[in-house]
Amino acid sequence: MPTPSLNPAPEILVIGAGPAGLACAMELSRKGKSCSVIERDHQVGGLAQTITIKEGDKTFLTDIGPHRFFSKNQYLYDFIEDLLQEEWRRVPRLTRQFVDGKYYNYPVNFGQVVRNLGLWKSARIGFDYVLARLRYDVFKKPMRTFEDYVVANFGRALAEFSMINYSEKIWGIPCADIHPDWAKQRISGLNLWSVLKNAIGLGGKKGPKSLVDEFYYPQFGTGRIYEEIAKHLIESGTEIKTNSEPVAIRHDGKRVLEVDIKTPEGMQTIKPQHVVESVPLTAFLDLLDPKPPEEVMQAASNLRWRNQVYLFLTINKEQITEDNWIYFPEKDIPFGRTSEMKNFSPDMCPEGMTSFFIEFFTFEEDEIWTMPKEKLLEMVMPYFEKWGFFTKDDIRQSYLMKRSHVYPVYDTTYKGNVEKIREYLDGIENLIYVGRPGRFRYTNQDHSLEMGIIASRMILEGRRYDMDSVGAENEYFEKGPIYEKRI
Ligand SMILES: Cc1cc2nc3c(=O)[nH]c(=O)nc-3n(C[C@H](O)[C@H](O)[C@H](O)COP(=O)(O)OP(=O)(O)OC[C@H]3O[C@@H](n4cnc5c(N)ncnc54)[C@H](O)[C@@H]3O)c2cc1C
Repeated sequence: MPTPSLNPAPEILVIGAGPAGLACAMELSRKGKSCSVIERDHQVGGLAQTITIKEGDKTFLTDIGPHRFFSKNQYLYDFIEDLLQEEWRRVPRLTRQFVDGKYYNYPVNFGQVVRNLGLWKSARIGFDYVLARLRYDVFKKPMRTFEDYVVANFGRALAEFSMINYSEKIWGIPCADIHPDWAKQRISGLNLWSVLKNAIGLGGKKGPKSLVDEFYYPQFGTGRIYEEIAKHLIESGTEIKTNSEPVAIRHDGKRVLEVDIKTPEGMQTIKPQHVVESVPLTAFLDLLDPKPPEEVMQAASNLRWRNQVYLFLTINKEQITEDNWIYFPEKDIPFGRTSEMKNFSPDMCPEGMTSFFIEFFTFEEDEIWTMPKEKLLEMVMPYFEKWGFFTKDDIRQSYLMKRSHVYPVYDTTYKGNVEKIREYLDGIENLIYVGRPGRFRYTNQDHSLEMGIIASRMILEGRRYDMDSVGAENEYFEKGPIYEKRI
């Protein structure tokens, strides 16, 4: 067996080659810093990787669920455009909810809801909205939970129809136990009145195309962004070691001193000057030697993560629907969302074929987490056959995939627990924890990339930045204009 080959004393050790870790390494390498990146998986990209599946001479590509890129940050668009050039494309967006056998646009289109639900149910939506405004505006009912937030902004009837059921599916806990931060990050600034104004044409002058209409997507999958960053890093001398992970991080409470790393070639101890990491927050604490104080470990044990199970089907059919992805909020449907990669880019599938990605949300103790592929398929097929999506005979192959630590659960106590952990970790001065898993924050690619870039600046400038300012704006994002390409 060859000996492990990592630089024994890199300036910076980056743990985790997802968007956050790679963006940090990329910015550091541009400034000539020596960096080593280690990644537990066999490929880079984290949750935003693209997987290649070969069936004989046919190649299918899939992301882990739908990955459209959207951001307010022009720097990120330029950053990606420089990497991908003509592979970076604009894609028309169609995303809908499927409820009671009918499609509803997402974000909600009030006119369509009225048409589909009929006058009586629509009047109920209006009545509930007025009631909610009275409760929360006039009688000042406090907004303590996600349920409060969506009921206050949409009224109970529409909130239940469009947001409550789906959110409970994602998180696996009642909406009354979900922290309002989840709503602030997802639907901040949006309410029934703004939706209604748009429906009756009072939403202001129709502007340029927005993120509701289109989004950017790489021709061969979102993971191309990260493969291309990795390629640039390797070319410029940064080492990236996959199938490798830390097993102990020794520290003196003020600094990380050394890190024991398991690589395919064996164990190695390295002494970095700085560590930037995106390991799931709770798992990271377990790596620390000595262990953090009891109250910090207790706070970590109060945090929960939601996992995902995925079924990926390759299909002998031209196309299933025109949607990029479809939400299935109804509780008796076992999956939450499906996506058709071909509708992101035709190059994700061989000609004349398509594929289908089905997402299940689960805790580790739930039956779905350990369910065999055949049983999952048996469970979902009656739905797709009934709706005319495809039949068993259309399926070429099925693949089962799983990811843990996908959604940090924003329950009503999460904030206090995260703060306790952060207070402790912030005392370790040469450690920066970033990204969705590292900060226990529900972020998309853009915010993870930004966190990685901020981490690089902290090192380069020798100062602290507020990582939580990333994505903290209180405005409904989807209305933002679509960025115009430079190239
Ligand atoms: C189903 C789904 C749909 C999504 N849709 C979108 C979308 O439409 N648009 C969008 O922008 N974003 C989307 N996202 C979110 C996006 O995938 C994440 O925001 C992004 O990947 C987070 O990047 P990160 O670097 O913070 O974390 P991650 O992607 O989780 O990367 C962390 C990396 O650290 C590695 N790691 C973990 N532990 C260790 C260890 N002990 N040692 C070494 N390495 C370790 C992991 O293997 C991983 O590579 C979606 C995510 C999912 C799951």
